[in-house]
Amino acid sequence: MISELAEKLFIDGSWRQGEGGRIPVENPATGGIIGHIAAATPVEIDAAVAAARKAFKSWSRLPSVERSKALKRLGDAIAAEVDGMARTMTLEQGKPLNEAKGEILKLAEACHFYAEEAVRIHGEIIPNTTNDHESLVVREPIGVVGAITPWNYPAELIGWKLCAALAAGCTIIIKPAELTPFTALAIARMAENAQIPPGVVNVLTGPGSKVGQAMVEHPGIDKIAFTGSSAVGLRIQQSCPTIKRLSLELGGNCPLIVTASANLDAAVKGAVRRSFRNMGQICIAINRIYVHRSIEAEFLQKLRAAAEKLVIGNGIERPDADLGAMASAEPLNKTKEHLADALAKGARLVTGGSAPEGEAFAHGHFFRPTVVAGCTHAMKVMSEETFGPLVGVMAFDGVAEAIERANDTPYGLASYVYSKDMDEVRYISARLDYGNVAVNNVDAGIMNAPYGGRKQSGVGYEHGREGMLEYLNFKHIRIRYDEPKVTER
Ligand code: NAP
Ligand code: MG
Repeated sequence: MISELAEKLFIDGSWRQGEGGRIPVENPATGGIIGHIAAATPVEIDAAVAAARKAFKSWSRLPSVERSKALKRLGDAIAAEVDGMARTMTLEQGKPLNEAKGEILKLAEACHFYAEEAVRIHGEIIPNTTNDHESLVVREPIGVVGAITPWNYPAELIGWKLCAALAAGCTIIIKPAELTPFTALAIARMAENAQIPPGVVNVLTGPGSKVGQAMVEHPGIDKIAFTGSSAVGLRIQQSCPTIKRLSLELGGNCPLIVTASANLDAAVKGAVRRSFRNMGQICIAINRIYVHRSIEAEFLQKLRAAAEKLVIGNGIERPDADLGAMASAEPLNKTKEHLADALAKGARLVTGGSAPEGEAFAHGHFFRPTVVAGCTHAMKVMSEETFGPLVGVMAFDGVAEAIERANDTPYGLASYVYSKDMDEVRYISARLDYGNVAVNNVDAGIMNAPYGGRKQSGVGYEHGREGMLEYLNFKHIRIRYDEPKVTER
């Protein structure tokens, strides 16, 4: 799949050999180059915007049932190609193949979810102060969307934008991360297979600072849907030269609170999954754990045992491994930096702390799941987003203290609680200043509930009906009626 997609851009329903400079794409498990992409040029960016604008005229006017059918076809096309698409993702991102397959199937699910939502874009009739007026509130698609996405979930993070936008009647230009462009190009190929009309879906590859920034500044793009770091999100907000709709799904620094009443085994299982899955490269990863002092020692012992059981491998050769390679040297270096900072400030290494040994790991970006205890908020592991397989643990004495520490961050994406005391659950979840709170589980997002961050974690929502509202404008039509001249019989 990769060789067919290399150096191509998808504009106006056709594949173009990119005119711009070439950028290599690495397999993070081996350090080998899997192919090159082309950096889209200003002329190519303009061509994509022109195609999306032209397509918007007809796509937005299509009966929603037709858009719904197109999204169902797209979901079916993606599910039919799950093996090839997952392989492409693993080769460029590093996650184990089985996990990549799961992500591709979730992308297909997003297509089907929004296919169903497309036919439920209802308006409202609002009561007026007089009977001769009627107010209709109708929903209309915003226009052309620029979607800019990161590398940790190369399919899903495109999918939520793509599916909601298309359901709403918008057209889209996708700029994937340089690290994981081939999954995005593969999605474009599926759009082609599903006979989505030309110009409705376009993919431009290249550096964010050039191609992404040009999309942010382009007057022909009506909305930017961005997932990525808070720093780039803020830059986007500040550098929009005209008013644009924005949705920003940004970084996190997510806490887990484990109270004295918690089911300890369940808490450990949740902590391991959400701290280390995808090598911790998840915006909703557990970064820091607050555990009640009375259970700290037992919790740490169990957490260590569970972390050491995780199998790390090359995601292609070990499709069922728990963990693959990290996506690049950057998050790996940040993980090492946060670890060194914690140890220098007095934290204790519980497990991990180095790369796994052996020839299989010698050339890729691998690291063992790492736990540090005795942490304080002076340490980066507790105060910044690590985005790697490192978690910090700190003991607390009272629930109020745990909540205060959990909220002591500029971020507000997701938070986690393990507690078997219902009063405690209600008290804590009401006070956590986060867009998502998962209690006695660690899967904070489901397709039909809104998912979004607060504070520096962003604005807007994905998933659910709320996710589709991000692609719609409201229009209030207020009509005055006169009594018709009726001849009485
Ligand atoms: P990033 O550096 O912010 O990059 C995200 C995307 O923005 C990439 O496509 C990047 O392009 C592009 N970009 C970079 N500079 C840009 C600019 N000046 N204008 C427009 N686009 C620009 O983030 P990342 O390192 O890829 O991803 C990790 C971050 O994403 C973490 O902070 C994580 O928490 C966050 N994240 C958030 C969510 C959520 O739902 N809230 C989900 C997943 C990840 P290039 O990479 O090609 O340069
Ligand atoms: Mg980056």
